[in-house]
Amino acid sequence: MPTNSLSQHLPFGENKNAEWYGKDIISVKQFNRNDLEYIFGVAHEMRGMVERVGTFDLLKGKILANLFYEPSTRTSSSFTAAMERLGGSVIPINEVKYSSVSKGESLPDTIRTLECYADVIVLRHPETGSAAIAAKAAKKPVINAGDGVGEHPTQALLDVFTIYEELGAGQVDGMTVTMLGDLKYGRTVHSLARLLSMFTNIKLNYVSPEILRMPKEVMDEIGEKKVPQAEFDTLEKVLPETDVLYVTRVQKERFEDPVDYEKVKGAYVIDPDIMKSAKQEMIVMHPLPRVGEISTDFDDDPRAAYFRQMEYGLYVRMALLAMVLGKA
Ligand code: ASP
Repeated sequence: MPTNSLSQHLPFGENKNAEWYGKDIISVKQFNRNDLEYIFGVAHEMRGMVERVGTFDLLKGKILANLFYEPSTRTSSSFTAAMERLGGSVIPINEVKYSSVSKGESLPDTIRTLECYADVIVLRHPETGSAAIAAKAAKKPVINAGDGVGEHPTQALLDVFTIYEELGAGQVDGMTVTMLGDLKYGRTVHSLARLLSMFTNIKLNYVSPEILRMPKEVMDEIGEKKVPQAEFDTLEKVLPETDVLYVTRVQKERFEDPVDYEKVKGAYVIDPDIMKSAKQEMIVMHPLPRVGEISTDFDDDPRAAYFRQMEYGLYVRMALLAMVLGKA
């Protein structure tokens, strides 16, 4: 190689032998307990680095394509912030109607295009299974940022990381987690319930209106791991034993019949009064956005963890980007 070659000026490359190098993140089913400990360890370090130095050059020169076919505030902006805090840059495609998607381009073709320019692709799409289709089309890593009513694996990782950081890593085993609201269409609870089933002595309560129950397929998978699960239509009975109350929004956009939505919207509202019967040492989480299911009067209660939860998402997404790009 000639001495004036460009390559002599390059910084160290990525570690291609790292376990997560080049991997897609499509479903929580791909993780085991050791993976979780590893991811949360890296995320914890990212938290420390952000607190100490703000931004650093771990992913300098790397490019993320952030491709969103559905609305997003937190997932999209936290992936952007994660990449930029690691010194990388982002191609944002939040408005697919201005891209060739509106000309009828297929998802695999759009993915093949973006991977010519980017090192990693984050995808949110309205169809279940779309992230897996994208990953099949791509040589570069694809990260599922929500595929319809399917999964939202990075949300579930940040949810469990929140529990670790808020209540202590050792606390998850033996915990009672109550999921409330739209368990049928809420993809975050589908991923979270699966992820929590990797812990021991965990108990899962599902509180929802009859028509918004946790899908059988998810309950069957969790049942195979012998995790106790129970369904309720009111919260009162299970709130006093709950360590984590995970509240969800009724997913208006997924209903076939708007009349059904009207029947169940506002079915549960968490407020200071109802929370009197909950433990003092517990947390209330929500993937957000909320549309009335947690009263703003509760926001100043120390148990209200939902705003801190968003921040933990930044550290988990920094960890995941560094991992799939061979830098962690
Ligand atoms: N932000 C979460 C999601 O994308 C939850 C929600 O939209 O209600 O699934």
